[in-house]
Order: sequence, then structure tokens, then C-alpha cells
Amino acid sequence: MRDFLGGLLFGGACYVCRGQARGILCAACRAELPRLQGALCPRCALPSPGAALCGRCLADTPEYDATVAPLAYDFPADALVHALKFRGELSLASFLGKLLAERIAQRETIDLVIPVPLSAARLRGRGYNQALEIARHLPGKLDFSSCVRERDATPQTELPWAERRRNVRGAFACRRSLEGARVAVVDDVMTTGATLDEMARTLKRAGAARVVNWVLARTLPPA
Ligand SMILES: [Zn+2]
Ligand SMILES: [Zn+2]
Repeated sequence: MRDFLGGLLFGGACYVCRGQARGILCAACRAELPRLQGALCPRCALPSPGAALCGRCLADTPEYDATVAPLAYDFPADALVHALKFRGELSLASFLGKLLAERIAQRETIDLVIPVPLSAARLRGRGYNQALEIARHLPGKLDFSSCVRERDATPQTELPWAERRRNVRGAFACRRSLEGARVAVVDDVMTTGATLDEMARTLKRAGAARVVNWVLARTLPPA
């Protein structure tokens, strides 16, 4: 009864099912979010028996050192991220950022939190950087000026997985030394990890000692 009255007084519609909700999602949809769980590779956050370093990371070690992701990139996480990224639903940044913050839970000391930058042209077109909007809700010292995106590659989603790494090579630059810094890189979705790998390469070249990915959703590889 109290929930019902609370819904009438303060609530709106659930973003997913349009049912009554006091937040972005109703309790049922929130409970059904595709949480990324089970044994995961500490480096890339894909399922890995015993939470050991996975075969892919052993064979071709990424530049980043660890990945934290609360969600799998399945419905409705994909719909929420898409709405934040392409439809300007910035209220979702707070909701999704809090999910990520819960997962981060002070596991390690981080000196800087750096959202994956957009190019100046894309930022003008979209009007905001969704990674920065998410990062505003995370713990740590936000830094959105040290690292820039110098050129726009073809959007990664339009390319086959095998070509994505080459596509982002040299895309980022650091404007200052990050000597010894432990950096968290924030992004909305991690698919092949090619963009985050290139970010980590750039940050380490600038002196970063450790680079950890903080991403909302992890795409699981095709079965
Ligand atoms: Zn719902
Ligand atoms: Zn891995």
C-alpha cells in the first residue's frame, strides 16, 4: 500500500515495462537486469573457469590490467545504454552510474577517472559524452581534459570484430604526463575491448602505472 501511494505521489513509469516505478526501473525490471556474474576473467571480465586469466588474455595480453562491469550487454541493458547514448536520456546516466559504482566498491586505489573521450566533431554532434556523464557518478577524481580523441574512426559497431583493433590505432592522445598514475577508464559498453586497449596503450605511454576499465556493460562473445 505504501509503495502504491508512493508511486502515485512520486513515481513515474518504469523505463522498460512502463509499469509503475519510483525510480528509472520498477523493482521487477531492476531485479531482472542482466547482471554479469559467475567466474570472470579479472582482466577482460568475460566468463572464465575459476576466475582465472582467460585464454584470450593469456594469448594476447591486453594493455589494460583489469575490467569491472556490472551488466552483460543484453536486454534491457542494451536498450538503456542506447537511450543514454543516442537519445539524450541523460537521467539514465545517474541510474547506470550507480550500478557501476556499486560494483566498483572501493576495490583498489585509483588516482584518476578518465572517460573515453569523443572527438571534438562527435561531441559537437551529440552534445555530450555519455562516458563522461556516467563517470560523474563514480568515485574518484574525474579528469576529462588530459586525454583527447584525435580522429574519428569508423564507428566500431559497423566493423567486423577482427578489424576493430586496427580501426582505433592511434585514435587517442594524452596532453600531459600521467607518470605513476593508477587510472580508471570509463565507457558505456565493452565489446571486443579494442577501444579500451588503445586507450590503455595511450595512457601507459604517458606513464600510467595501472589502467582499469570501468564499463557499464560487457558484450559476451558469440556462442
Ligand atoms: Zn518495469
Ligand atoms: Zn580475459
